[in-house]
Amino acid sequence: MTNDSGNRKPDIQQGRLSAAQIDANFGDISPSLSRPEALIEADRCYFCFDAPCTTACPTAIDIPGFIQKIRSDNIKGSAQTILNENIMGGMCARVCPTEILCEEACVRNTHEDKPVNIGLLQRYATDPVLDNGTALFTRAQDSGFSVAVVGGGPAGLSCAHRLSVLGHSVVLFNRDQKLGGLNEYGIAAYKVVNNFAQREVEYILSIGGIEVKTGVSLGTDMSLADLLENHDAVFLAFGLGGANKLGLPNEDIDGVLSAVDYIAELRQAKNKGDLAVGNRVVVIGGGMTAVDIAVQSKRLGAEFVDIVYRRGPEQMGASRHEQDLAQTSGVTIRHWARPAKILVDDRVTGMEFECTEQAADGSLSGTGQTWSLHADVIFTAVGQTLSTDIFGEKTDSFKHVRGKLVVDDNRRTTVPATWAGGDCIDGNDDLTVTAVQDGKVAAIDIDRFLRTDKQGDEQWQT
Ligand SMILES: Cc1cc2nc3c(=O)[nH]c(=O)nc-3n(C[C@H](O)[C@H](O)[C@H](O)COP(=O)(O)OP(=O)(O)OC[C@H]3O[C@@H](n4cnc5c(N)ncnc54)[C@H](O)[C@@H]3O)c2cc1C
Ligand code: SF4
Repeated sequence: MTNDSGNRKPDIQQGRLSAAQIDANFGDISPSLSRPEALIEADRCYFCFDAPCTTACPTAIDIPGFIQKIRSDNIKGSAQTILNENIMGGMCARVCPTEILCEEACVRNTHEDKPVNIGLLQRYATDPVLDNGTALFTRAQDSGFSVAVVGGGPAGLSCAHRLSVLGHSVVLFNRDQKLGGLNEYGIAAYKVVNNFAQREVEYILSIGGIEVKTGVSLGTDMSLADLLENHDAVFLAFGLGGANKLGLPNEDIDGVLSAVDYIAELRQAKNKGDLAVGNRVVVIGGGMTAVDIAVQSKRLGAEFVDIVYRRGPEQMGASRHEQDLAQTSGVTIRHWARPAKILVDDRVTGMEFECTEQAADGSLSGTGQTWSLHADVIFTAVGQTLSTDIFGEKTDSFKHVRGKLVVDDNRRTTVPATWAGGDCIDGNDDLTVTAVQDGKVAAIDIDRFLRTDKQGDEQWQT
């Protein structure tokens, strides 16, 4: 196949590229607009009534409202409009797949085939607030209630911030040493340069009223029962801990790696050139993680990078924009094939695939025809799973669907005084912006519960 460089020995090396090349490859993929650029872009907005972009935004930001403020140079007011609905407006400006959200809905698409660049305008408005530490929020009078938030990713931080604004005390428990969740350990490095994730965390915590405990895990260091005893409500936002497996023999052999684990290492590396990189890299999966590991492998110096996905381009979890990014970065995407066999000697040497086809009812089957790719490294990026063994005696009280927690519209779980949001809940589309919205919605409902019907616990238990 085309990824064969002729060298069949495993070719895995550090420092494939010079430090300067790596710096250039991992520079900001979408740099900020200058003031003239922002004003010109803001002028393209029609300020639509019942704006479809706002309807398409999972956090319902008043998009024409914030763009109008940019036009009148009211940058602080613009940021306030954004952050009121989405406290991670800065992060979302960088990582949201706007091409399938607000910008897909923009009416400029029908007139000019080019939406208003909402993402970059949002970044233009929010960056100065973070850069200058401008305080835009104050806490309401102390309510006397305490809420435990488990998980310091987008969902947990959003919930904690809104609860604090509403006057409640929050204790935020986080397994990892750094807060931010996948913003810190998962998102592609070129989307969040200059330590942006930690700067945003600091801004969120600067509201006060949020006590942070890192390096502590629900299920190991504390139980849900403990939290419910010591707090008035609990919000669960621990993401998805486990990575799905391919289910093939030799999956644990040297050279078969979890994409999520490698990306976490890459994000934390002081010097990316120190990371060992394969020359022939094969990625299994079709989502954002698959694209991210493929593009980042290329940017670290891998020569041949192939993504193999079992269905077609339309069914890939990665948006068309992300697929284009992969292809323009030199990644080959192969569709309609599924892993059949991991090829090994004393470590991985490649993978055999079976061609697939889809029946009229959407079901997938193998055709029996096979082909293979050589690989120094195979990354698996086939989704993550929820670890439910962390609930102890409460495990059976939670309802699960498709391996995730079931919640109602207000993000209440089936356990009294317990809410959940982010990647760990069913119905969430595994985006930063939806996790932020979950945290906000849950905080508003927790506030209502604490102030009006905290006595309602008994009612739930019936
Ligand atoms: C590689 C990758 C790239 C992505 N790229 C994008 C992108 O470009 N754009 C986008 O919109 N979305 C992207 N996503 C998805 C997005 O990052 C997630 O949807 C989002 O981070 C989910 O937020 P969360 O708060 O639910 O969970 P997480 O971000 O996973 O945070 C969970 C937090 O809980 C903590 N925790 C875990 N277990 C426990 C425990 N037992 N006790 C206490 N704390 C615990 C962890 O330390 C972590 O801080 C990407 C995801 C991945 C994996
Ligand atoms: S849909 Fe486009 S033009 Fe209309 S308000 Fe939103 S950004 Fe402006």
